[in-house]
Amino acid sequence: SMSADNLRDTQAELRKLYDELCALGLSLDITRGKPAPDQLDLSNGLLGLPGEDDYLDAAGTDTRNYGGIAGLKELREIFGELLGVDAANLIAFGNSSLTLMHDVTVAALLHGTPDSERPWAKEDTVKFLCPAPGYDRHFAITESFGIEMITVPMNPDGPDVAAITELVAADPSIKGLWVVPTYSNPTGVTFSADVTKALLAVPAAAADFRIYWDNAYAVHTLVEAPPVPHPVLEWAAEAGHPNRVYVLGSTSKITFAGAGVAFFGSSADNLAWFTKHLGISTIGPDKVNQLRHVRFFGDADGVRAHMAKHRELLAPKFALVLDILDDRLGDAKVADWSHPEGGYFINLDVLDGAAKRTIELAKNAGIALTAAGSTYPYKQDPRDHNIRLAPTYPGIDDLRTAMEGVATCVLLAATETLLT
Ligand code: PLP
Repeated sequence: SMSADNLRDTQAELRKLYDELCALGLSLDITRGKPAPDQLDLSNGLLGLPGEDDYLDAAGTDTRNYGGIAGLKELREIFGELLGVDAANLIAFGNSSLTLMHDVTVAALLHGTPDSERPWAKEDTVKFLCPAPGYDRHFAITESFGIEMITVPMNPDGPDVAAITELVAADPSIKGLWVVPTYSNPTGVTFSADVTKALLAVPAAAADFRIYWDNAYAVHTLVEAPPVPHPVLEWAAEAGHPNRVYVLGSTSKITFAGAGVAFFGSSADNLAWFTKHLGISTIGPDKVNQLRHVRFFGDADGVRAHMAKHRELLAPKFALVLDILDDRLGDAKVADWSHPEGGYFINLDVLDGAAKRTIELAKNAGIALTAAGSTYPYKQDPRDHNIRLAPTYPGIDDLRTAMEGVATCVLLAATETLLT
């Protein structure tokens, strides 16, 4: 609502602020959702576990040896409860859920799923639906295999089911859907039961349509308690699509991001199929690490108590970012942002056409933000408006400096957009 003259005056003031910011010679990074060192310290107890004389699991199996492709039952029981999956339908494997997402896609491409007529790689075209803004590394997996990505909108209660229904019903080359159902990356959205049930029930032209249910932030709450996980395998079976869902998760942001345990949950048929292929590449996972996690947590409540400690460290960082956004951008009406109750990100939407410029201004001032477009397939944000803020890693003082700087860049870029 400002006149052009007023805008020009405001821009001149902001330009001065920006020059002062650049003069600070900052080198700050709020690009990636990594746990901070003090969060990693919470799990240092793992480093001494399971201990020299402790290497048998509950069934008496020697965890130091080969074998046991499904992973330790007692760990699957703990995380099954937290992910809403029966331990019998969950495997614990490796340290990265992203690897599992990659490998299950490779298996589908090279061998076909139990419901595929032929390997996906033998199809003329394979497509995945990508609710966006979404997780850049999901999109990187599909892009790297030449899988065509179709953007679908995200709503406050999950992805746009009507759009998905229409696409999936009409096109048998649509084989997958990427989703992050709890405290979504980057929007913070948690899927409602209605949206979840609808996704599981959608009539799909492809019998081998799969939902990658990446519940990476299932327990990563910033409020009293995380939402109860939807029993998606049960609901999928009830909807007549028992093989539709792959549930994924890991302890990457619970214990050590580089030395945790990852989980894959699905129907008995899918598990038999996937572990058969996994079993070609390995004789078994690192069960000692799994045992160490069992000893460290004891049970699901142990994980919940541990997450409360993460929350104590993270909640002030998220609150700080939100305070600065409110304080600096609240009146200007040139940006919107999420108020997440969990997860690792704050989603910042600036004026259409201003995201790249905001990120460039920040970069030139020594503040690294996630690259423009990262939250969209092919790194193409059609409106050039979305910015993912990752407040977890920097210390609180650096975060304050970085966010004050980002606010200046958002405002300056907005005046540039409005004046062109
Ligand atoms: N899934 C989502 C939605 C994430 O945000 C991340 C990390 O940022 C991952 C998966 C990575 O998980 P992992 O460390 O288990 O590979």
